[in-house]
Amino acid sequence: MSAAPALLRVTDLSKAFGGVQAVAGVSFDLAAGELLALIGPNGAGKSTCFNMINGQLRPDAGRLTLDGRDIGGLQPREIWRRGVGRTFQVAATYGSMTVAENVQVALLSHERQLWRLWPRAAALHRGRALELLEQVGLAERADDPCSTLAYGDIKTVELAVALANRPRLLLMDEPTAGMAPRERHALMSLTQRLVKELGIAVLFTEHSMDVVFAHADRILVLARGELIAAGSPDQIRADARVAEVYFGSGRLTGRPGGAGGAPA
Ligand code: ADP
Ligand code: MG
Repeated sequence: MSAAPALLRVTDLSKAFGGVQAVAGVSFDLAAGELLALIGPNGAGKSTCFNMINGQLRPDAGRLTLDGRDIGGLQPREIWRRGVGRTFQVAATYGSMTVAENVQVALLSHERQLWRLWPRAAALHRGRALELLEQVGLAERADDPCSTLAYGDIKTVELAVALANRPRLLLMDEPTAGMAPRERHALMSLTQRLVKELGIAVLFTEHSMDVVFAHADRILVLARGELIAAGSPDQIRADARVAEVYFGSGRLTGRPGGAGGAPA
């Protein structure tokens, strides 16, 4: 039984800032239809990994391929054009716009050319925006101002905006920051469903181990820039090195009675 071919392949990726080796020879694969969590203590190198994959940072060494084509060191715009999306915070200034309009703005900025040549595209964008809102379960709120949404719903609009470009790979760096545990689970179970329905690949970071263990297909553990473990939630839970890294931080709980103390 062969595994699905990798959509994203990361090989020996490295990045230093001055004397700090933020990412040190990280390698992993990510397939379409897979929800992969990247976890590790603060400063482990998670965001640096994300920013090399999305083109914000140029790797010092290593290789990044999407569908076998090199993307390492390309401009963010080019990497985005090839199908690598990421979640952006819905701008606070858009609060007076409706939920649908926020998604339409995202669609417009992604298709500026088309918009200029064909003003009627606005009507199509409304349709596509509603389709996206349907996918994330917010169609009923389409015509409400964003400012009236609960925080968890705003994060869900951000997800719809990220999907506007039909990414094949979606990068979500701390998508549930500031959310209550229940909302975190709701957002990640929605993400989990979209990964399967749309066949996209998602790489995400998340502080709540409960959320990671409940929703990720597979987990990568970074510590001081190095990948110290990779595997299924059960494998990671049973991994002695992982427990050691988290020991004392009290964050690797996963389930009641697991190693560590209260969740962060
Ligand atoms: P994480 O997202 O896992 O918390 P980061 O990737 O943000 O970790 O950081 C990894 C290491 O690299 C940390 O030691 C951090 O201080 C350092 N670092 C990250 N970005 C920069 C930067 N732009 N300049 C200097 N050091 C940085
Ligand atoms: Mg980070």
